[in-house]
Amino acid sequence: MVAVVAHAECPDTAVTGPYDDRGETDPREECGVFGVWAPGEDVAKLTYYGLYALQHRGQEAAGIAVGDGDQTVVFKDLGLVSQIFDEKSLNALKGHVALGHTRYSTAGGACWENAQPMFRMAPDGTDIALGHNGNLVNYLELMHEAAEKGLVDPHSQPSDSDVMCALLAHDTREPRTVEDAAMDLFPRVNGAFCVTFTDGSTLYAVRDPHGVRPLCLGRLGAGWVVASETCALDIVGAEFVREIEPGELVAIDADGVRSRRFAGTRHKGCVFEYVYLARPDSVIRGRSVNATRVEIGRLLAAEAPADGDLVIPVPESGTPAAVGFAQASRIPFAQGLMKNAYVGRTFIQPSQTIRQLGIRLKLNPLREVIEGRRLIVVDDSIVRGNTQRALIRMLRDAGAAEVHVRIASPPVKWPCFYGIDFASPDELIANTVAQDDAVARVCEDIGADSLAYVSVDAMVRASRQPRSDLCCACFDGVYPLGMPAGNPNAERVREMQDAAETTDRTYEGV
Ligand code: SF4
Repeated sequence: MVAVVAHAECPDTAVTGPYDDRGETDPREECGVFGVWAPGEDVAKLTYYGLYALQHRGQEAAGIAVGDGDQTVVFKDLGLVSQIFDEKSLNALKGHVALGHTRYSTAGGACWENAQPMFRMAPDGTDIALGHNGNLVNYLELMHEAAEKGLVDPHSQPSDSDVMCALLAHDTREPRTVEDAAMDLFPRVNGAFCVTFTDGSTLYAVRDPHGVRPLCLGRLGAGWVVASETCALDIVGAEFVREIEPGELVAIDADGVRSRRFAGTRHKGCVFEYVYLARPDSVIRGRSVNATRVEIGRLLAAEAPADGDLVIPVPESGTPAAVGFAQASRIPFAQGLMKNAYVGRTFIQPSQTIRQLGIRLKLNPLREVIEGRRLIVVDDSIVRGNTQRALIRMLRDAGAAEVHVRIASPPVKWPCFYGIDFASPDELIANTVAQDDAVARVCEDIGADSLAYVSVDAMVRASRQPRSDLCCACFDGVYPLGMPAGNPNAERVREMQDAAETTDRTYEGV
């Protein structure tokens, strides 16, 4: 068996991701995964289109692995899916099984070596390619195990995905198959993981016992597809069959789909997928993401009405909630901001002159819509507040009479350890202001006439999922999978939560 890995040179300095025009850190999804088992189909091109639909889940790197039962070829690079692949490279990827990955890095740097699919050869010569969405909580433990076995260099800070791939390959040796190795490995993995992997013949998909990130199974003629979101099934014409269950391993080959359990199910799906991360045309646990966002807008209008002439969204992620807000408040909806959809995804570092344009690189106000109007601006979330501060200044410069900001998620106060990259807890604007009357202080900081967030209860109600089945940790600080050891943000969270408890006890004692 031979593996061919094609790549471009790793840059001297790690790429930091698509250059952001605002110095702002939007919440960033770590990855999207896609897999297809379909003899007779062009699996590389199907995977390419699947990754296109999942591009929003990661824009730093992408890759495709294709197996034909004899050899596995991996092609990956830094950049967008459309920048990495062309007709020639896709035509070179021949086989009946493929998996693809789009990456934004949180664990491990943004370097070519960390782009996925990961590839390892097992001692018996089996090729193993693997793609992973999520972050592991017990990464250090697994990394030390892999280092002790001589599989990774701990000083090179291998990504959690590489560590999983290394352990999987190490334990695959006759008569143990990669499936046997997976059934041993995944019960020992703690954290958020949707993993697709292949031995070049069979396609496997695994979802962590809490089902933090979404993963679904679709039917494509005589073949099968797995994908992070249902929108990726739609783009290749696959029919949704079901979600991969939390704690389930699925194997797909000529015998069809085999399901095995490696752990019990304890649903703790990420509520932020509904609010911001997933594409609105996706469906998670039977609930449309778009319908959830529209409903959040309606509930937000009921909880925090505003007196204004127009409801305008911050495109595009604020649009469904703005529609709901306008419907419920009976205030006209209008597009007051035009989004330049592509410039925020460039890897070309902007010149100083361009950088000074700030938010205008990404959003441009429609003066004739805005001038003299009292605006209700609906956005999906506030992280550091830089975006909203610049946006409000721009709207006032364009002639807005008043700017009332309504946010379709509760204040983000805590970092995520399960696959989303927020700022550190001390950089989140909800923590930078004094906690008494914090909303009024954030409102003043960003320069709005009024500010309100939707409540956690309303957000959860809109998702139509039981609260006990969701992770809401970035809003309520309750981490259902625990926090990773040796992580500075986790240490800071523990300090902040201990201090808050001490303060509560002091007040109780007064
Ligand atoms: S902490 Fe927030 S972003 Fe992370 S999994 Fe939980 S709800 Fe999702």
